[in-house]
Amino acid sequence: MPIQTINPYNNQLIKSFDEINDEQLEKKLAKAHKTYLSWKNTEIKERAQLLQKVADLMREKKAELSKLITLEMGKLIAQSESEIDMCASVYEYYAQNAEEFLADKPMKNKDGKAFIRYTPTGIILAVEPWNYPFNQVARLAAPNIVGGNVIVLKHASNVPQCAAMIEKLFKEAGAPDGVFTNLPIGAKRIAKLAEDERVTGMSLTGSEKAGSSLAEAAGKNLKKSVLELGGSDAFIILDDADVDLAVEKAVLGRFNNMGQACTSSKRLIAMENVADEFLQKLKAKIEHLKVGDPMDPNTEIGPLSSEDAAKKVAKQVAVTVKQGAKVLVGGKRIKREGAFMEFTILTDIEPGMLAYSEEIFGPVASFYKVKTEQQAIDLANDTGYGLGGSVFSNDEDRAVQVASQIDTGMVFINQNVASQPDLPFGGTKRSGYGRELSALGIEEFMNRKLIFIPNKSK
Ligand code: NAP
Repeated sequence: MPIQTINPYNNQLIKSFDEINDEQLEKKLAKAHKTYLSWKNTEIKERAQLLQKVADLMREKKAELSKLITLEMGKLIAQSESEIDMCASVYEYYAQNAEEFLADKPMKNKDGKAFIRYTPTGIILAVEPWNYPFNQVARLAAPNIVGGNVIVLKHASNVPQCAAMIEKLFKEAGAPDGVFTNLPIGAKRIAKLAEDERVTGMSLTGSEKAGSSLAEAAGKNLKKSVLELGGSDAFIILDDADVDLAVEKAVLGRFNNMGQACTSSKRLIAMENVADEFLQKLKAKIEHLKVGDPMDPNTEIGPLSSEDAAKKVAKQVAVTVKQGAKVLVGGKRIKREGAFMEFTILTDIEPGMLAYSEEIFGPVASFYKVKTEQQAIDLANDTGYGLGGSVFSNDEDRAVQVASQIDTGMVFINQNVASQPDLPFGGTKRSGYGRELSALGIEEFMNRKLIFIPNKSK
């Protein structure tokens, strides 16, 4: 992938960037490592102050940063602003809680005194996607930097200016050179980075293909990895659900960020007695929306992240329709320049059709009607993915019972899946392993070192 800013609103090339060469890469790694050797000995308080400064700067520059997101990957400007708010709250959360999370943890032992001390390990490689270009980075950078690790970032090739801006923000916040380093390199050079002894951990958010390639490189070199991959989240509407609430959350869950979120509510599964009402109300909400420039706050449908992304989604829909599924709304590219695609609802999807098993990373909801609660659970679990899910019911205990039978890393009751700094985020099955955010996220790349002092013999 060439490293380029292409505005998906009109597919115009704005700027191309060169990859750094091997010599420049080595210089950056050497600097990061040297910085790590002193950074790891600083007080958590000092590192927390840096994160707080980054959060403050992001809030101060929200308008500028949001425009950059919208320019490079087409997100509606109001949603870009929300991303910056969320991102600042992630840095702030770890600034405020790291001391508590990383305090020594006493262990019970009859033979002596034992505790876990959290110590940093080195350079952590972050391989990140374009769909939340600031926030995906924050989720890994904040807990690791406050924990004493340093970060090198290989960002998606279509958001190079966002990547450079994050490095600039850290510098402006007073971070020593090497605490956060942007590496403008292609994906092919990741395997080489995995071999480098100074790199002690690797994390990737993205597709299964990229995830398995990174995990292979990490495994070969005995490095710890964390993977946040794709999803095909089920959004279950039980027969006693508040249908209007479910409709409201389904619009957010499936169509926010033009449907380009790993935790988008990709499969809407409704029980028979509420299905038709839900479907008609959802249809009414997503028809006749204003298509246009994502920089314009009045626009409701903007472009996807790239022309290729829009082509892929349109093709996935066309194949599924050819296989016998029906289009209730949308289904086609929007006839105008740019990476536009109609908001779409597919029905009558059967096992064996593309949309039944493949993730569609765009504004396409797959709708299913089921007779029983058990059928809803079975359908929700009939996927290789295991990221998130939602259950709608007016009976909280029943909803929790259903949630506990869904094989995913997260289930939200009466809400679409949402990411918050203090809630762990991550999946099972082919959606990856490990957790980001909350107290769990800070532990992933820290050494949980046991210190043991035996009882004195009498
Ligand atoms: P992608 O192609 O996997 O790209 C993600 C990152 O991985 C980019 O930085 C990319 O670099 C890099 N990459 C690509 N191929 C690689 C390889 N063979 N080895 C190592 N790194 C590689 O994914 P995408 O199309 O941008 O994003 C869509 C996918 O990501 C969806 O499946 C979505 O569900 C998933 N996703 C998951 C989460 C989560 O938290 N679980 C969040 C967002 C997205 P280049 O850009 O240079 O190719």
